[in-house]
Amino acid sequence: MITLPDKTIGIIGGGQLGKMMALEAKAMGYKVIILDPANNSPASQVSDRQVVATYDDVSALEELCRSSDVITYEFENVNSEVIESLEKIHNIPQKSNCLKVSQHRFLEKNHAKQCGVPCIEYRLINCEEDLQQAIKELGFPTVLKTARNGYDGKGQFVLKGNDDIKHCKKLLEEECVLEKFITFDKEISVVVTRSEKDITYFPIGENIHHNGILRYSLVPANISLDVKNKAQEIACKLVESLDYIGTFAVELFFKDNDLYFNEMAPRPHNSAHYTIEGCNQSQFHTHIKAICGLPLFPAYLKQPTVMLNIFGQDMSDILNYIQHPHKVESYLHLYGKEEAVQNRKMGHLTFCGEDIETLFKEAHSVIKGD
Ligand code: AMP
Repeated sequence: MITLPDKTIGIIGGGQLGKMMALEAKAMGYKVIILDPANNSPASQVSDRQVVATYDDVSALEELCRSSDVITYEFENVNSEVIESLEKIHNIPQKSNCLKVSQHRFLEKNHAKQCGVPCIEYRLINCEEDLQQAIKELGFPTVLKTARNGYDGKGQFVLKGNDDIKHCKKLLEEECVLEKFITFDKEISVVVTRSEKDITYFPIGENIHHNGILRYSLVPANISLDVKNKAQEIACKLVESLDYIGTFAVELFFKDNDLYFNEMAPRPHNSAHYTIEGCNQSQFHTHIKAICGLPLFPAYLKQPTVMLNIFGQDMSDILNYIQHPHKVESYLHLYGKEEAVQNRKMGHLTFCGEDIETLFKEAHSVIKGD
C-alpha cells in the first residue's frame, strides 16, 4: 500500500530511533504522531503531535491508528498481541510476527536456526536444575541472559565456574537462555531495509561494545567479500522468512572465518546511525520509504565512517570537544533527553574521512579515560 507525503505516520515509541524516523518523515512532507508515555519525548520534539500513553494502552494505540495512515514502531518490546489485532484493520507494514520472534531470545535463536543461520549452542532455562543440566552440556564459560527485555548488556551474566551460579538467582526469577561464551574475533551487524519489492543493504560495520553497550561502529568492517556476502545472505533469509517490511538489523559474531547469529532487531539500529552522514541515504530514510510503499534504491558508503555513542557520563567531554577546531570531520547528534544518567544513550558523534584508523583514533580521543 502506498502512503504519500502529507499523510500521517504514527510512531509507537518516542526515543531517539523514533526521533530520527520522524526527522526523515518530516523532511519528506509527512505528518508525524508519536505515542510515548513521557511528555516531551525526543521524537515528540520534532513531530506534529504526541499521544501521551503507555505502550500497552490499547485505547491510546487505537487512537494513534485511527489518526494515522501508516503505523511503525521503534522498538521490539511492543505488545505483539495488541499489534496482531490492530494490524487486521490498520496499516502496520512491519507487522506483529517479527515482534513475537525477536522479543524472546529462545524463539529468536530457534527461528534463526530454522532459517539455516548458525547459532552458538544455547538452552532454555526455567529453573536452577535446568541451569545445572545446561552447564553440564555446554561447560564454562557461558552467558545467562533473560529471555525477554534484555538490552545494552542488561539482564545477562557471564558464568566462569560453579561458584558463579549463586549470583544468578535474580536472573533465574525470569525465563532465561544459557549460551556458550564465544571469544569472537569481531562483532558485526548487517542492516537492511526491505520494502514490498526491494531490499537495500547497508555497508557492514564492525561494532565495539563496552560493558555490553555499543560504543563504536567502524564502517566498512574489515572482512572479506565472502564474509560480507554470507552476512547479507543471513539478513536476507531472516527478513524474508518474517515477511518483514522496514529497516531490520542482525548482529553477528565473527570467529575463525565463520559467522554466528547473536540477535536481530525489527527496526532501525544503533549500529547504522553512521548511515546519516556516511551513506548516500540513511537507515531512517529507507525505513520511511519502505513502510510508505515507495521504491528503494541501493545504499553505498560515501567514505569511511566511525560512530561514537554518547552516554550520560560523556556529556561534558562532548561539549568540550565540539568547541575546539579539529582536523577530522564530525557530526553531533543529541537526542534531547532531559536526564544525563550513567550509560543512558544521549546522542552520537559521527566521524567521516579518509581512513578508519585516523577516525577511530579521533573518536577514541574524545572521551577521557575511554
Ligand atoms: P546482547 O544483548 O546479547 O547483544 O549482548 C550484548 C553484548 O554482550 C554483545 O554485543 C557481546 O559483546 C556480548 N555477548 C553477548 N553474548 C555473548 C556470548 N555468547 N559470548 C561472548 N560475548 C557475548
